Amino acid sequence: MTNLLGLDRDGLERFFEAQGEKPFRARQVLQWMHQRGEGDFGKMSDLARSLRDGLVAVASVQAPAIVGDTTAADGTRKWLLKVDGANAVEAVFIPETSRGTLCVSSQAGCVLDCAFCSTGKQGFNRNLTTAEIVGQLWLANRLLEGKRPVTNVVMMGMGEPLLNLDNVIPALRVMLDDNAYGLSRRRVTVSTAGVVPGIDRLREECPVALAVSLHAPNDALRDRLVPINRKYPLRELIAACNRYLDKAPRDFITFEDVMLEDVNDGEAHARELIAFSKKVSSKFNLIPFNPFPRSEFKRSSPERIRRFAEVLQRGGLTVTTRKTRGDDIAAACGQLAGDVADRTRRRSMALREVRA
Ligand code: SAH
Repeated sequence: MTNLLGLDRDGLERFFEAQGEKPFRARQVLQWMHQRGEGDFGKMSDLARSLRDGLVAVASVQAPAIVGDTTAADGTRKWLLKVDGANAVEAVFIPETSRGTLCVSSQAGCVLDCAFCSTGKQGFNRNLTTAEIVGQLWLANRLLEGKRPVTNVVMMGMGEPLLNLDNVIPALRVMLDDNAYGLSRRRVTVSTAGVVPGIDRLREECPVALAVSLHAPNDALRDRLVPINRKYPLRELIAACNRYLDKAPRDFITFEDVMLEDVNDGEAHARELIAFSKKVSSKFNLIPFNPFPRSEFKRSSPERIRRFAEVLQRGGLTVTTRKTRGDDIAAACGQLAGDVADRTRRRSMALREVRA
């Protein structure tokens, strides 16, 4: 059985060719699945009856099972999705007046173990498949009201997308394909903790908007908060961002900065960020820290964040402060934990990733 949610246009064309069918079937089936949200081959009425029957025997349209569905007071909606017997991941829909953003997960757990992130504390189990990544978008569009409710996708859920590019790239292609979701490259954002080779590969194979989780303006602090920095320090990260900008759909990189009280929110840090911003075309997005059980940090006060933003702005930076959405249902940035059963696999992966 081939799960057709896991195939981009090239993959589907190859699939149909292998079935002795014309490659244009790929376009038709993409439209049925992703534009009309159809999962039943029997209802794909412009396919020949024999083809529909044939598909039932060899293919499926299979999204992860929904095991939790919660809506926050502010309308943010979070789904807990079971991807296999042992693992569940989360996807979050954030409605705004003129757009709807879906925050998508790329891995069950995460190897990177950033000090302030709940997903990292869960350990790592495995990469999501393309079908599991696309399935999050497919489900959201089916479950939400309105035509095309998801206008933007951010790969900012659980996991590090640039450590799962074999599956993330075809998923991005489905998001961008005019026969599927037809999102523009600017409306699809990949966020990374700073996996330098992944930034280069994304640039070559599927450049979309890039966000980098910076969190610290110098290596000493960043080594501690974002351990992957020990492998790819700021100098290399900045160089990779500058290479990316040649092909990027936007002329800046978004840098995310989680605001941790008395850790990275002082005036000296702001000054260092101003110096940082001279090295790469950037915009800054301040994220008030979202606590989770046993987290060791405190959220910077609104007043401190306001002052921090002001120093940056006076230094000529473009700064926004992310509104905290869905924190009453643990759907805010860094609170996604899902349910990662085998947590033991992180050790070996992490050692490979962080130390090598
Ligand atoms: N691994 C990728 C994708 C995750 S994106 C990355 O690191 O970019 C999730 C975003 O939320 C990242 O910017 C992450 O640093 C931030 N984040 C993690 N934990 C957080 C927390 N507790 N409060 C606020 N933001 C957090």
